[in-house]
Amino acid sequence: MKRKYDRVAIGIDLGTTYSCVAVWQDQHYRVEIIHNDQGNRTTPSFVAFTENQRLIGDNAKNQAASNPQNTVFDAKRLIGRKFSDPVVQDDILLWPFKVTAGDNDRPMITVKYKDQEKQLHAEEVSSMVLTKMREIAESYLETTVTNAVVTVPAYFNDSQRKATIDAGAIAGLNVMRAMNEPTAAAVAYGLDKRTDYDGERNIFVFDLGGGTFDVSLLTIKGNNFQVKATAGNTHLGGEDFDNRMANYFVQEFKRKNKVDISGNPKALRRLRTACERAKRSLSFLVVATIEVDSLFQGIDFSSSINRAKFEEMNMDLFNECMTIVGSCLIDANMDKSMIDDVVLVGGSSRIPIVHQLLKDFFNGKDLCKSINPDEAVAYGAAVQAALLSGGVKNAPKLVLQDVTPLSLGRGVIGDIMDVVIPRNTCIPVNKTRPYVTTKDNQISANINVYEGERARASDNNLLGCFNLFGIPPAPCGSPSSNVCFAIDENGILTVSAKNNASGSSNKITITNHKERLSSEDIKKLIQEAEKYRIEDKKFLRKAKAVNVLDDYIYKMGTALKKNDINLKLSSEEIEKIESTIAKATNLIDENNQQVEIDVLEDHVEGLKSWMEYIIAKTI
Ligand code: ADP
Ligand code: MG
Repeated sequence: MKRKYDRVAIGIDLGTTYSCVAVWQDQHYRVEIIHNDQGNRTTPSFVAFTENQRLIGDNAKNQAASNPQNTVFDAKRLIGRKFSDPVVQDDILLWPFKVTAGDNDRPMITVKYKDQEKQLHAEEVSSMVLTKMREIAESYLETTVTNAVVTVPAYFNDSQRKATIDAGAIAGLNVMRAMNEPTAAAVAYGLDKRTDYDGERNIFVFDLGGGTFDVSLLTIKGNNFQVKATAGNTHLGGEDFDNRMANYFVQEFKRKNKVDISGNPKALRRLRTACERAKRSLSFLVVATIEVDSLFQGIDFSSSINRAKFEEMNMDLFNECMTIVGSCLIDANMDKSMIDDVVLVGGSSRIPIVHQLLKDFFNGKDLCKSINPDEAVAYGAAVQAALLSGGVKNAPKLVLQDVTPLSLGRGVIGDIMDVVIPRNTCIPVNKTRPYVTTKDNQISANINVYEGERARASDNNLLGCFNLFGIPPAPCGSPSSNVCFAIDENGILTVSAKNNASGSSNKITITNHKERLSSEDIKKLIQEAEKYRIEDKKFLRKAKAVNVLDDYIYKMGTALKKNDINLKLSSEEIEKIESTIAKATNLIDENNQQVEIDVLEDHVEGLKSWMEYIIAKTI
């Protein structure tokens, strides 16, 4: 029986704002989106810390307004980035939680947990969300799960991808593949439609979520899904629209009440939540109201916003989306008239002006709304997970061919970016390029690896560098090395260099990259994750014991009030029961954080046996 589940593999859409988990049900030939413990099919990517516990998902988001400094979200906006990254610096101004610079310019999130300051890496926060998604799947499947496909924005760079895989490792998951989100959505769409069409179809996936924007152009032919081009912005999405609206209302509040709330995290958090709600309503209504009681210094805030105003304040962002759509078509060398279906994915793709702009762009073409924009990515990831885990008989035999989102190359003399693998090249891929020496008797070569589209190497993102030694002395212009760039299925790059004459070689997988965690760091964080897990379990056990105790105290108290019972108990017994109840009440009323679980459970046992005694006496 156990073996049947050994190969279970899940698909996780790890979103900036919401995450979703799904599994391929081989016996039913379909994907199941798994609901969480609250019955929701998506789970907020939120983690919160309190005086006595850690919360993940809905519970964390629900208490965000009352505990803003210790409620962490948007880890995906930090993952794989440096603290000094201007994007991170801008975000910090908006986040209620504290982010500081750690070793190697890594951003560290500071929270207070059980009255102690804790520093967390973005990977760690993401790993907690992944752990939650894994647990959701485990309780549905009634088995342990270790294998998963985790999705990443197509436009994520090398270090963002690798950091996401690290987050999986910290969560105890074997990340079988870091799959591109729009590709996953295309699988969901394609599977749905495959039977309707013969021949080739060009699908344009438009994925506008909470924090990222991705587009991909794919060609589907039978079971073959080939990505032709991808483009995007890893920092553009629903949260930006919320922030614009929140800033607008901060100004309005200032004008009306002569007070500035911009420095107050609690007020801002509450205002932003109200703005997000209003934004969602504006997808269906033309006017939305905003009401926040006692927003600041006891002042209530009440206002409204219409759709036109919302569109106006974000128009530059919507236009940016359309520019990116255009550039993806150019990269794929396709005219918009060649697109058969435009597929909408991501919560923000529900915004009417986005529909309108997109429809106009594609010359009035109807957009496909047949797939659920919140679930399509997890759906596709679950199919990919089934394909990668042996033993699944009925999964559709798809062939997925993806591309690399950014050009990869080497910095050469004159600070020039020498592109070895241009963006939108199919992966996996291996490309070798010969280089010559630039000086007489040069015996070593420094190899700097960059990603990006700028002509000047140093304007791009430096992924890593290494030296190749042992080049035989020779005049300038002699062969120095063959440099090979290899990208695997996850989009992760390895660069190696070899001198053919001497045979000397050197290589790097871009893993010892500064923003990345070392394997020791990851090991430490896995232990830390285990500690959190044990503490969470302990907390729940204690909370349960307190509840049961409370319940017994109430029941025994009520029972003792009944005269017929009193008549059957001796006064000595009544005294003993009353003292047991008093002690138990004390334990609960006192600061029960100090009380050991064993003591509580002991008292539960004591009360339980008295209760049984009373029941036996009265029947
Ligand atoms: P991510 O994958 O980045 O977490 P999602 O695809 O789950 O994002 O989308 C979440 C975003 O979509 C949030 O910013 C949310 O406010 C927004 N959203 C959800 N529903 C609507 C709607 N009806 N209208 C506008 N925005 C919406
Ligand atoms: Mg998403």
